[in-house]
Amino acid sequence: MSLKARVHVPCSTKDLGKNVRKVCEVGCISCQMCVKKCPAEAVAYVDGLITIDHPKCIAYGPECQEICVEKCPRNIMRKYEGRAAIARQADGLKMAS
Ligand code: SF4
Ligand code: SF4
Repeated sequence: MSLKARVHVPCSTKDLGKNVRKVCEVGCISCQMCVKKCPAEAVAYVDGLITIDHPKCIAYGPECQEICVEKCPRNIMRKYEGRAAIARQADGLKMAS
């Protein structure tokens, strides 16, 4: 099967970053580091959500060294490893008390 996605963000909050920080340790804080660092311009911030143009991302190739993953301060820009891996990640997400 051909690769459909290389990276993904397992968070769909549209809340402001400052509000996310108060209630969740792993939510996207909309810092847009992933947008700024992607050399392919494959990541965008649209209507409060990080969106990835997967065909553009894949077409760029390995030269980017998946820097978006490395630079995300919340460690939620992740390498895509299939649905089972996403489910495991979701199990591991922690809410702040
Ligand atoms: S940095 Fe690389 S892996 Fe991340 S979105 Fe851009 S092209 Fe894809
Ligand atoms: S770098 Fe991480 S926390 Fe910042 S906008 Fe991108 S996915 Fe969200």
